[in-house]
Amino acid sequence: MSATPGKSKRPDVGGIGISSPQRVIDAQSGATKLQLAEYYLSVGNWLTPHLAGRPLSIVRAPDGVDGDSFFQRHCGRLKMPHMRVLDKSLDPEHAHLIQADSITAVVEAAQMGTVEFHTWNARSDRIDRPDRVVFDLDPDPALPWSSMVEATCMTLDLLDELGLKAFLKTSGGRGMHMVVPIDRRQGWDCINEFARGVTMRLAREAPDKFAEKMGPKNRIGKIFVDYLRNQRGASTVAAYSARARPGLPVSVPIGRDELEQIAGANQWNILNLHQRLAEQSGDPWSDYASTRQSISASLLKALAQDG
Ligand code: ATP
Ligand code: MN
Repeated sequence: MSATPGKSKRPDVGGIGISSPQRVIDAQSGATKLQLAEYYLSVGNWLTPHLAGRPLSIVRAPDGVDGDSFFQRHCGRLKMPHMRVLDKSLDPEHAHLIQADSITAVVEAAQMGTVEFHTWNARSDRIDRPDRVVFDLDPDPALPWSSMVEATCMTLDLLDELGLKAFLKTSGGRGMHMVVPIDRRQGWDCINEFARGVTMRLAREAPDKFAEKMGPKNRIGKIFVDYLRNQRGASTVAAYSARARPGLPVSVPIGRDELEQIAGANQWNILNLHQRLAEQSGDPWSDYASTRQSISASLLKALAQDG
């Protein structure tokens, strides 16, 4: 039997035919569209647990990282049959939200020009009860990496003091992301108040290091702990997602003990991450799923007082 004309040039990656496989999507590394699809297939077991069950936003960059990019959180006219389309009631004023529950959905999205995968802080089965709080440490770009390490440690110390376990990942860009898993007991208002409280407390205790307000003008020589990622509908790049930036860096979970060893938030990318995954002894986030903690009224009170 002969192959269907036109389809024969599409290499199969996990059941998805990749069009224009040799198109270079990143001039810096020379990585092709096929390599990105293969990257996603290879990290499927690491990435899918971070995507499954959560509303998703995607960043599509069909012409590569130097071209235009599109941020999309609704199905619109997506041609991605493996992407789950969520119930309209989750976001009644817009088109249906989407969710990637399988690696096939991820590779299919990559085939359609998706580079980044971002998720909500709640799962779609209980959308009004977030299950994590995310802090995004955004530096004045002029600061050295050592300032990011120091600010990350200070934020971790505060969370420790409050009795909360946090998990770290590189953003793949300039900073660190800190994820605090929580039981699904509180609503969005509560976790917002908590997240904002953390930022304010840090800015109060170390005003020379932490900014109180977002925006480049407010964080000259400082780091802004972005708490706004915790509003309903906000999203953050998922662990193991690539970034649509030069070098195709990846957001990577790290252990606390690694923080002082890494050179920057973009040191891993789609071409070198497999080396780390092959060498690491276990999952730096292995305790994540078994962590049981919540944001109580007494915790909010403790946060409002100076330590
Ligand atoms: P860095 O370390 O460089 O700060 P980051 O992942 O923390 O990387 P951004 O990539 O700037 O930061 O993401 C900013 C936030 O805005 C994320 O929460 C993301 O989900 C969201 N976002 C990104 N692009 C758009 C867009 N075009 N429209 C709306 N929200 C977006
Ligand atoms: Mn950031």
